[in-house]
Amino acid sequence: MDAITPMQSILDDINATIGQSPDRGKVADYIPELAKIDPNQFGMAVCLADGREFHTGDADTPFSIQSITKVFAVALALGKVGESLWSRVGREPSGTSFDSITLLEREQGRPRNPFINAGAIVTTDTYLDGSTPREALGGLLRFIRDAADDADIHIDETVAQSETRTGHRNFALAHYMRSHGNLLHAPELTMGTYFHQCAVAMSCRQLARSGRFLVGGVGPRLVTKTRARRIQALMMTCGHYDGSGDFAFRVGLPGKSGVGGGILVIVPGQASIAVWSPGLNAYGNSKLGTEAMEALAHQTDWSVFS
Ligand code: GLU
Repeated sequence: MDAITPMQSILDDINATIGQSPDRGKVADYIPELAKIDPNQFGMAVCLADGREFHTGDADTPFSIQSITKVFAVALALGKVGESLWSRVGREPSGTSFDSITLLEREQGRPRNPFINAGAIVTTDTYLDGSTPREALGGLLRFIRDAADDADIHIDETVAQSETRTGHRNFALAHYMRSHGNLLHAPELTMGTYFHQCAVAMSCRQLARSGRFLVGGVGPRLVTKTRARRIQALMMTCGHYDGSGDFAFRVGLPGKSGVGGGILVIVPGQASIAVWSPGLNAYGNSKLGTEAMEALAHQTDWSVFS
């Protein structure tokens, strides 16, 4: 289809139907600050490779992008240490929940991939190396702001503190990896950085713009083409935890979700899409966000599969 002309009406239609659905999933409550978010919100934004932008619903409301930051973090860590990152973290889907401890024990402290929590903690530990947490987070924010071409993107300190107080499982993962020699820093240092990384807040419009560094076209070229392809391969296979296969089956595009209810999706060479609805499905991915992406992919005929 000509994806340009009807895009606004497709988005408005998705907002009016899926976006208003009464069956909205359940907001993440293991991070107390996220439990306070009103589930009756829905936003979506599309940035095309030629620079055109479309949005609908609550697309200007900032939300906690949480695990979506893992996409930027892995780009940063690869930029810093190159392919040697893969000696510390794998590239295989986990088939287990995002914060699974059992898998890590079976595999001697080397996480399956950089998008489950343990793998993301290793990634953070990698880009933190040689700097203070403040400098490392400054580098991460610079990368995201450059990607989005927007200086008004910040870390929500209240969310970061909330998770630092309650992130016992994540601390357990960090300590376990440290016991296997797969954490360079004291767990408190890496985890303080990781929790702040996860607390980056962005609106759908900002997030969709920031994804253009993976699309090509007019977006900023912050990583090589090969690296962009590989990050998208990881998003496709590992971006939705143990729901990655289901997302690939339903949507057919690489995506990364976060427990704040956001999803970033890339249509290679064509578009970057962000959707946000805080209620989650059983896998911990946005329920309506997944449904909205499925509808958008169907109506635009966008897929990585011919
Ligand atoms: N900060 C969250 C955690 O580490 C991120 C999880 C997610 O967004 O899926 O538990």
